[in-house]
Amino acid sequence: MIKGGARRQVDVPAQAALLRHSRHGWVLFDTGYSPRMWAATERLPYRLYRRATPLRLPPNLALAEQLPQLGVAPEEVGHVILSHFHADHCGGLRDFPAARLVATREGWADVAGRREFAAVRRAFLPDLIPDDFAERATLVSGFRNAEVPRLGPAHDLFGDGSFLLVPLPGHARGQMGLFVPDTPDGPTLFVADAVFRAASIRELRPAHPLMDLIADDPRAARETLARLHAFHRARPDVRLVTGHEAPHEPVTPPWVETPASGIQARLRGLTPSGTGAAKRNLSRSRESAEADLNPGSRDFSPRRDATEGDKGS
Ligand SMILES: [Zn+2]
Repeated sequence: MIKGGARRQVDVPAQAALLRHSRHGWVLFDTGYSPRMWAATERLPYRLYRRATPLRLPPNLALAEQLPQLGVAPEEVGHVILSHFHADHCGGLRDFPAARLVATREGWADVAGRREFAAVRRAFLPDLIPDDFAERATLVSGFRNAEVPRLGPAHDLFGDGSFLLVPLPGHARGQMGLFVPDTPDGPTLFVADAVFRAASIRELRPAHPLMDLIADDPRAARETLARLHAFHRARPDVRLVTGHEAPHEPVTPPWVETPASGIQARLRGLTPSGTGAAKRNLSRSRESAEADLNPGSRDFSPRRDATEGDKGS
């Protein structure tokens, strides 16, 4: 909801972005929903999640179904970056068994031990989290090894400036976004749920006061919005991608009523270049950005020294 927006029910896609790093291969930013949501919300109290956000999950929109159509096997995804631990971002997590799982230490610490009501209150569904999460997790606990000018501190995931994780707190504990300075579609900032519509950033439109009820820290959310707005003013060339706006959807009302009155997992993002209009949004980091970096690290493990948070607990 956005202040002043009209109320009406709409489908809200839960989106993910697929990007390619020339050395580290496929990277996902969030995983959307998956049919696994049904089992994960079968019994109480987890069923309350379904009650609050009715699900509509065409199986063919699950990432695990869409990626092969793009020529990407789920096992080939080397990194999954989780913006935060809300179920509509974790839904497909178990479909990527070979991926390093990148999250904030703060976000993981907040949900790791939660079960039952304590979990549902956080929109967290423990069953969505792979059993070996801790072994595969790269937990970012500081954003001190890089900076995005005009936006602030960042964590340089691969040590080459191509994937910059940025803290965007407020909506969920430890939420982060991703700035990719170099894609075929231009520099792109994935803000996840820092706002529900990119127009909020451009127009510095605060969320509806009711959204404060679901925000982890409403004041931090407002500060994040102000920081994003200032960044947008300084860098209007940067494309803003939110977690729940359909791609290329006009940024005009109606506004979203809730973060889910019917949610689709929908692929958003980047794919090998030159493979057709359907893949136009997919992006590939430029070779030049990665040359000579991480010379010994051709597999899916991020460099230790580039990842302050090291492995999960
Ligand atoms: Zn969320």
